[in-house]
Amino acid sequence: MPKVVLITGASRGIGREVANKLAKDGYKVIANYNKSEKEALKLKEENENIDIFKADVSKRDECQKLVEYTINNYEKIDILINNAGISKVGLFTDLKDNEWEEIIQTNLYSAFYMSQEVLKNMIKEKNGCIINISSIWGIVGASCEVAYSISKAGINGMTKALAKEVGPSNIRVNAIAPGMIETEMISDLTEEDKKEIIEETPLRKIGKPADIYKTVKYLIEDEYTTGQIISPNGGWIIT
Ligand code: NAP
Repeated sequence: MPKVVLITGASRGIGREVANKLAKDGYKVIANYNKSEKEALKLKEENENIDIFKADVSKRDECQKLVEYTINNYEKIDILINNAGISKVGLFTDLKDNEWEEIIQTNLYSAFYMSQEVLKNMIKEKNGCIINISSIWGIVGASCEVAYSISKAGINGMTKALAKEVGPSNIRVNAIAPGMIETEMISDLTEEDKKEIIEETPLRKIGKPADIYKTVKYLIEDEYTTGQIISPNGGWIIT
């Protein structure tokens, strides 16, 4: 029986690449999506090891259905990757309550709901690996992305605390805090903005989703790492 990976927000960007590559490595991957059904169907078509499931992970009941579907059809979840996320750029003083709520619900509550639902099974099995996709902004904070930075700082705190709590059940919890990665999430950046970032980055490049896959693979395979926040960012921000 191959290892079963449940990944949220896998229709596009980082999640899609990670799902595709893990499936090619022989994992059984349940790729969650919300709005991008066409992209999700194509992902499934491309790889027989991928199954897809629609759920808005900012909602508890939809997370429950996603986990139930996975356990009912694949018996277990070895690896959970909390990847779904949204960002919004704007002044803190202009931030509306509903915008704040949407960002915190989608980026932070989703990881809370999904981890809680999946842990019921992982604790019983005394085996599991949770990888949270955070952001460098959760470590250093981003001007004009206060809600996003808070959501990711929350993810980092949850990663450390939960790692301590579930380690004795042989469950590892780690976070990846990427720098700038070429996906639709950074489509608002101009070519000039990107050029500046590249000049500030010691490795002189913006990351690709495949770079994050490599960190995911490392965290799946390494059995002595837990509670860590790893930041693949080309040296752009060194803390
Ligand atoms: P992206 O290309 O915009 O993709 C976001 C993904 O999240 C999509 O598949 C989307 O699915 C899904 N999603 C959003 N809201 C959802 C919800 N309520 N329920 C289920 N899925 C939902 O973004 P990305 O760059 O790949 O980002 C992936 C993760 O990496 C995020 O957590 C992000 O914060 C983090 N990150 C990205 C960067 C970067 O520079 N790109 C840097 C640091 C951290 P649908 O389209 O199907 O709704």
